[in-house]
Order: sequence, then structure tokens, then C-alpha cells
Amino acid sequence: MKTVFAQSRPNRQGVMPARPASSKFSGVTAAMFLPEELLRKTPPALPQLAELDVVRHFTGLSRLNYSVDGNFYPLGSCTMKYNPKFAEVAAALPGFTAAHPLLAQLPGGEDMVQGSLEVIWETEKLLCELNGMDAFTLQPMAGAQGELTGALLIAAYHKAKNNKKTKIICPDSAHGTNPASAALAGYEVINLKSRDDGLVDPDALAELLDDEVAALMMTCPNTLGLFEKHLPALVQKLRAVDALLYYDGANLNAIMGRMRVGDVGFDVVHLNLHKTMSTPHGGGGPGSGPVGVSARLTPFLPGPRVVKNTGSADSTFALNYDLPQSIGQVTPFYGHFGVYIKALAYLLRLGGEGLSRASDYAVLNANYMRKRLENHLAVPYSDLCMHEFAASATAYEASGVRALDIAKALLDKGYHAPTIYFPLIVKECLMFEPTETESKETLDRFCDDLLNILEQARKDPDALHAAPVSLPVRRLDETRAAREMVLSDEL
Ligand SMILES: *Cc1c(COP(=O)(O)O)cnc(C)c1O
Repeated sequence: MKTVFAQSRPNRQGVMPARPASSKFSGVTAAMFLPEELLRKTPPALPQLAELDVVRHFTGLSRLNYSVDGNFYPLGSCTMKYNPKFAEVAAALPGFTAAHPLLAQLPGGEDMVQGSLEVIWETEKLLCELNGMDAFTLQPMAGAQGELTGALLIAAYHKAKNNKKTKIICPDSAHGTNPASAALAGYEVINLKSRDDGLVDPDALAELLDDEVAALMMTCPNTLGLFEKHLPALVQKLRAVDALLYYDGANLNAIMGRMRVGDVGFDVVHLNLHKTMSTPHGGGGPGSGPVGVSARLTPFLPGPRVVKNTGSADSTFALNYDLPQSIGQVTPFYGHFGVYIKALAYLLRLGGEGLSRASDYAVLNANYMRKRLENHLAVPYSDLCMHEFAASATAYEASGVRALDIAKALLDKGYHAPTIYFPLIVKECLMFEPTETESKETLDRFCDDLLNILEQARKDPDALHAAPVSLPVRRLDETRAAREMVLSDEL
């Protein structure tokens, strides 16, 4: 595929036929209108193409990309579900897209952005209701930034109480961002080993607890896709040493409308709107990792906060900067605003019942796939899973086939590969998350194709080492391909 630069031809542009040399506009140049010192010395090196060339070029490029609009994405830990287009329509409304982020700070500006402020206020309220929290901030722009914000809130709470806290405990089944965020907030990270059944053990936690523990960061369902059954016992133990409870809610898909983390006793939760609430995940953004808190952490939330004035006649919604205990602003302006609009549209369209049903189907689909595969791929934690499960390909190691080979063979069948070698506590791990938006037919087709690959692994293992054979590139050295990228238009 040629680049737009290689396709460029002089004077080819837009939808206008090329201008004849004798045109009455042929002598018109920018120099007639602009002062000398503002003129470029050389013309910009922009490609010159007709609209049709541009449309074909970018449509062609998009077809080289794998996307959830095109095919199934069983990527565990990432929630690559289909996001309905009505939410995109809401986010594209010109009243939102054309509002300048500084508008609210002009004199009288709040009057002009009442709708945008209401979106923030309403989304925060609905997320509070869904999660049983006292308040939410929408500012963080990713799950990991939500974690850091949460860890900073925990630090602010302990500082205000003069608590000497230095440590945060993270289970070994945590997403890698949890210990990283805790460390970034200045804490020593203590690793909590999971039990043989993949769950966090309240007794093992008790052994690590002392007065210096600031918090426990829990992920539930954890990265094995298991529900942490001992949450109430964990909450009780942490309360005894005035440690806070952090809930990594990136996987809210599995529990929406079925459990509220605030009701269980958690103090901080982050969500990934770009996994659960109708913004596509992946491709580098934009994301949103809102953080919800219990009442004792509300004073520390980042500012400004959107408030609703019940008394005044004019502006109903306003921005409050008077937050003496706030940890400060964690993002420029108000975070990724378009993502909230999509989340709000999704929340309102599905309603409480629809959200619960989405979670039910996410869990049902994962268990359906688990059952179809478990006789062929070991499922080390074989209890009912939540929205995802981890399988192990160690049985194929003897014939020289590894999880990587199976994942590469799936590419040839037209699928995105599942997550592999994560979580680290499962050997030769393949992790599947089908999500609630896939039909039984899609799941069956995927399972059939995967079972065929596993049969080939037994009969003709060498063939799998060659995969993928049908894509523009074959098997790459993935580290070098990422670090020493050679961009080429010769595909
Ligand atoms: C995806 C994920 C994160 C990180 O979210 P980002 O938006 O990628 O920073 C954290 N925890 C869990 C459990 C996740 O699945």
C-alpha cells in the first residue's frame, strides 16, 4: 500500500476537477493577502490528493487494522466489547464538541456550559448509585491514572489523620498497574500471595497487617476471573488497623447491578469507562478512569467539582474551586469529556435492569466458553468464573507447542489473539474474555476453531510453529518489532 505522499500529484485536491492553466484564479497567491513576513519560504510538504484517493487510502488502512467492528476479540483482562453507536452520536452533538474547555472560566461562562456541567454531575451521580459510593471524580484519563489518584487520596486521608502509613498491600493476582500506582504514590508495595484456589486468603492478609499498612488494593473479579469470596472478612481485618480498602473496578462488566462495592465496605474504587461504559478500549485512547470514594475521602477529591445549586435562579450547575483539602487537579481541564457523554448515554439507555443483564451475559458467555474448552485446555481454577477465565496450555508443551503458538494460529483463523502469559501465576496461560455482546454462534465458531488448532497441536505440532501464514507479516520478534520499528509502505 502506497503512502499518501507517494500517491500525491501536483494540484490534485478535493472534489474539484483540476483547474485549467488559463483559469482567472491561476494568478491568485497567498502573497496577495498576507504580509511578507508571514509567508512561508517553501511550500508545506503536504500530499495533494483528490477526496476519493483519500477515502480509499484510509478505508484501506482501516481494513489492515483488526477491529471489534470486524471480528471477535477474546482478549482477557481488556473487555474488548462492542460499543453501541448511539453513544457515539451523543458524544458528537455539536453543543458538546464545540464547547471550548476554557469557556466555563470566562465571566458568565458557566451559563454557556450548563449542559456539559450537567453531564459531569449526572454521570457522577449515576456512578455513585451503581457502586454505592458517596462521590465520584471523572477526571482521571485511564484506569492506571485512577489508581494513582486513588492512592493519592488514601495518602491524603492518612496525612490528615496524622497516621504514619508506609505500605500498600497488593495480591499477586493484581493487574500490574496496581503495584506500580502504589509505588508512584510513594508507598512500599507488599505482595500478598494468593491461595491454591486463586483467591486472596484473609489469614495470609492478617499476617501482613500492621499499623503501617495504608491500604489493600483488591481486584474483583481478580485477574483470574474469580470472584473474591472473602471480601467481608478482608474488610473487617483492614478496618482494625485503620487501613483503607481500594477496589480495582476495571472489570465492572462482571458485577454491574449485582454488587455495589460501597456496600461491601470499600473506600475507593476506580472504573474503566473505556472497558465497561461504551467507549472502545485499545488503540491508545481516549480512556477514562473515574474514581469513587466513601464519605470519609470525599473532601480530598480532585477539583474543581461540579456542584448543583438548588437555590439560585440562573445557573443551576457551577464549578467549585474552594476545596481546601483537595489533592488538586489530576488532569488538564475536566478529563476526557467525550467518554463521559458515552458513559451517560449508555447508563441511561440500559438502565439498572439492562446493566445487570449485561453483567449476567458477560459471566454466562465466559462460563459457556470455559465449559466448551475445559476438556482440551486445562482450567486451573475451575470454579464458576466471572467475565473471564485463565486456561493453561502446559499439556501441549511436551509436543513443543506453547501458548504463543496457539495464539498465533488463531490469527490465521481471523481472530485477535487472546491475552497470553498473563496472569503470571498461570503457566502457559491463555486468558479469554468473550464479553456480553457476543452471540452464542460467535462463541461456538471461535471454540470450534480453537479446538481444531488444539487437535493440530497434537497431530502436527510443527505446522503451528509457522503460524501466522496468512497475514502481511509472519512471526515477528515482538520485542524488536516494538522497540526498533521500521515503518514501511511495502505491504
Ligand atoms: C485494564 C485494567 C487496568 C488498567 O487500566 P488502563 O486504563 O489500561 O490504565 C487496571 N486494572 C485492571 C484489573 C484492568 O483490567
